[in-house]
Amino acid sequence: MSLAGKTALVTGGSRGIGKAIALGLADAGADVAVCDMELEDDELKAVAQQIKKLGRRTLANKCDVTKSSQVDRMIERVESTLGPVGILVNNAGIGGGARLMDVSNEEWDRYIATDLTSVFYCSRAVGMRMKERHQGVIISIASAAGLRGFSERNTYNVAKAGVIMLTRVMARDWARFGIRAVALAPTYVKTEMIARLGEKALADEAARIPLGRLAEPEDLASAAVFLASDAASYISGDTLILDGAQLA
Ligand code: NDP
Repeated sequence: MSLAGKTALVTGGSRGIGKAIALGLADAGADVAVCDMELEDDELKAVAQQIKKLGRRTLANKCDVTKSSQVDRMIERVESTLGPVGILVNNAGIGGGARLMDVSNEEWDRYIATDLTSVFYCSRAVGMRMKERHQGVIISIASAAGLRGFSERNTYNVAKAGVIMLTRVMARDWARFGIRAVALAPTYVKTEMIARLGEKALADEAARIPLGRLAEPEDLASAAVFLASDAASYISGDTLILDGAQLA
């Protein structure tokens, strides 16, 4: 599943799932641009260094993906430096949140902007360029929380359900432009985002998973490499659930 000659852009690539996917795509042969909100932050630079060590070209970008003008500028910069983006991974997101009746207007807006609207901004901007070239793959990190109304994190549920529908809409509407769109829906992945739940709660959660463990970020990376590759050329509109059979 070689991605040699392709250019990928991974949003939120400084740590966790985004970092693993960026390194996975680079390992498969792609040049990979990454972004997060803080360029000064050493985490993103370290990921860029690791991509270079794999022999690929890279670009670390400071970009708040909730701002469409910043997204447009970043994509311009990535394409003029690395070449046409053929693989977009919409990964940047925030987790957590409250139950519906406790959600303030500000919290609602912040989650929808970060976890849903940003996916639209990035996909629209890259999609218009993919359309001209008649090829491209858009992979968005949704969540099992977008498929089931878990009792907490309610704005997150709604935003991630939106990502799943946005993926379907893009897949149907943009197939005529040679663009595929897919989503990944994990339950729990071992990253900073869920570390705040505490070791005991995570161990209890792992015990409830039929495969007996939480997902590693690399589990998502290998799925992303497959979905980005020509081996998945007939897969579009789907949301791949990565849950160790928890929702089965
Ligand atoms: P992390 O919190 O570890 O990483 C999130 C990344 O997103 C960071 O690089 C962060 O950058 C970036 N980011 C957040 N907001 C913005 C923004 N406005 N603009 C640019 N970058 C931003 O999260 P995970 O790796 O765990 O999660 C990645 C994705 O996977 C998210 O969409 C999440 O919802 C989803 N997911 C995660 C699960 C899990 O169990 N971990 C389960 C299901 C889905 P910065 O350092 O600048 O904040």
